[in-house]
Amino acid sequence: MDSDKIRKNFFSIADIGRNEDGSITRLLFSKEYEEAKIRTRTYMEEAGLATAIDPVGNIHGFLQSEDPDAKTILIGSHLDTVIQGGAYDGLLGIIAGVETARELEETGHKLTHHLEIIAFNGEEGNDLGGTFGSRCAMGLVPAEDNAYLKKAKAFGLTKEDLLKSRMNTKNKSCFLELHIEQGNTLWQAGEEIGIVNGIVGLVRYKITAWGQSNHAGTTMMEHRKDALTGMAKLMAEADRLARDYGNHMVATFGKVEVTPNAVAVIPGKVEAVLEIRNLDEQLLERFYEELTCFSQELMPITFTFEKLVEKTPQTCDERIIEVIERLCSKKDIAYRVMPSGATHDSVAMADQMPIGMIFVPSKDGISHNGAEYTTWSQVMTGIRLLYETVKAVDKLHI
Ligand SMILES: [Zn+2]
Repeated sequence: MDSDKIRKNFFSIADIGRNEDGSITRLLFSKEYEEAKIRTRTYMEEAGLATAIDPVGNIHGFLQSEDPDAKTILIGSHLDTVIQGGAYDGLLGIIAGVETARELEETGHKLTHHLEIIAFNGEEGNDLGGTFGSRCAMGLVPAEDNAYLKKAKAFGLTKEDLLKSRMNTKNKSCFLELHIEQGNTLWQAGEEIGIVNGIVGLVRYKITAWGQSNHAGTTMMEHRKDALTGMAKLMAEADRLARDYGNHMVATFGKVEVTPNAVAVIPGKVEAVLEIRNLDEQLLERFYEELTCFSQELMPITFTFEKLVEKTPQTCDERIIEVIERLCSKKDIAYRVMPSGATHDSVAMADQMPIGMIFVPSKDGISHNGAEYTTWSQVMTGIRLLYETVKAVDKLHI
């Protein structure tokens, strides 16, 4: 593989949407996205792939096997970025896929599977929901819902566009994605590769603490029903529980609303949103039970819990994990098997086929930021590993 040439190709796309501060903004369906889409298509064609663009702006590159009835190995990630994002998030997985295909072509290595590289649109949070392109491809967007179609129309999309972007998922072998870690585990440990064993599920609860507003000067401590103090105790317990559980359990209160939120008034009501994430659904359930149980000790403050969002965890295919582990050991690559705390296109793809994911380190765990960085040598280790993984997965009966 020609590392310098790959780097040049990478930045010829990464630089589209570059801001003055060095960050990159390439939002779905933006002028920058359209420009990157055309450039990516050309890049795929230069690598020897036949290409197609679907109506929601996903770019597909094909490398056909000699056997027309063969199954297809898919590789992909996303071409869009957040506002003022980094160069590597998403794009790296597309480049890795295309370079894998190019290397197969140039070395004359024939796969028994077809290979398809996909650059997805709209993976980052947006009005049509995150992982938009991959969910369209898997038929997971609510294309019959009028409210949703109205939002889609704002991007110039019709119901037919959404429906026509659905891929035929028959005869698909698996989906592989290389991505930056977006956390600091690998960088800190000095490891080059993370083999993802699953993408964590998450549950969000709206928790309301009910107390009584009263005068902050005349109400003695023993007579107070301070909802905010109660909520603070609950938060501290959630934090303690998460640390106690270990196993990558995380708990976050990202949003709090205090009523009446005034000086000299004891808070009578507090609403907070708790988000917990883990790979193990049962652990998430147990956490909730323990926290609700603890909340009953906080009388006279009472609590109500309302589930807002629930996303189930997705596990990566054991056979693929094993293949990647074997390759890392063989090539003396420092790696670890780890869950992904962030959502990826792989989550949508997992609805229809086995998935496998490879992480490369993110410097200091910084992502969704112009300072996002992975050394080029780490990038190349990831790309070469993906190439070897495809050759090895090709021999499995997936
Ligand atoms: Zn991403």
